[in-house]
Amino acid sequence: MAGTGKFFVGGNWKCNGTKDSISKLVSDLNAAKLEPDVDVVVAPPFVYIDQVKSSLADRVEISGQNSWVGKGGAFTGEISVEQLKDIGCKWVILGHSERRHIIGEDDKFIGKKAAYALNGGLGVIACIGELLEEREAGKTFDVCFQQLKAYADSVPSWDNIVIAYEPVWAIGTGKVATPQQAQEVHAALRDWLRKNVSGEIASKTRIIYGGSVNGGNSAELAKQEDIDGFLVGGASLKGPEFAIIVNSVT
Ligand code: PGA
Repeated sequence: MAGTGKFFVGGNWKCNGTKDSISKLVSDLNAAKLEPDVDVVVAPPFVYIDQVKSSLADRVEISGQNSWVGKGGAFTGEISVEQLKDIGCKWVILGHSERRHIIGEDDKFIGKKAAYALNGGLGVIACIGELLEEREAGKTFDVCFQQLKAYADSVPSWDNIVIAYEPVWAIGTGKVATPQQAQEVHAALRDWLRKNVSGEIASKTRIIYGGSVNGGNSAELAKQEDIDGFLVGGASLKGPEFAIIVNSVT
């Protein structure tokens, strides 16, 4: 843990669940003992946010999985920052690799979304990460720095941003980065912030890791100096396992 603030664990439920399965997940989370000194956030599919908000203990904050780049209006299928706030969200996940690589969002668009969300009062979980071929070509740092720069170029402040380093080859594959691989990138990202934003932002910004984190590997990852939390996909759909991950910092 290097960033100031609490260890931060987010559960990204992606496009999973039904009213029934989400009700079970919420009751498992409500029953779980969550370490008080950890910020815990879950990102349900939009259509279930209201259900989750009204049944999940307030101790866990709610995030959107995406938000529109500007004010709402005639944008079929989109959800605005104002709507996320209205329904009780405190956070939004932006720049997730599935939106970059499947939906085709680019750095500039994501940077603009982050600025709009921050100005609108949401915290941003700002995702970045390299593809396998980029890692194999030795371009991990270049790719991550470029994606980080796109946020830096457009955000009004870093106060409400958590950076999520998620190597694309580790997402949903069961192939987690080793603690050393993750630490190496996290330290480099912090160094980039120091050189390009400020020393203060570099030391206080939380940099969390995502990509096949589970109850069995989270404790070793959490020991790394520059890992300040996790963004968890698959394993966040199981309440007891997610609680193990939340509590792995102790
Ligand atoms: P995973 O997903 O934990 O299922 O690999 C992480 C993410 O996409 O945020």
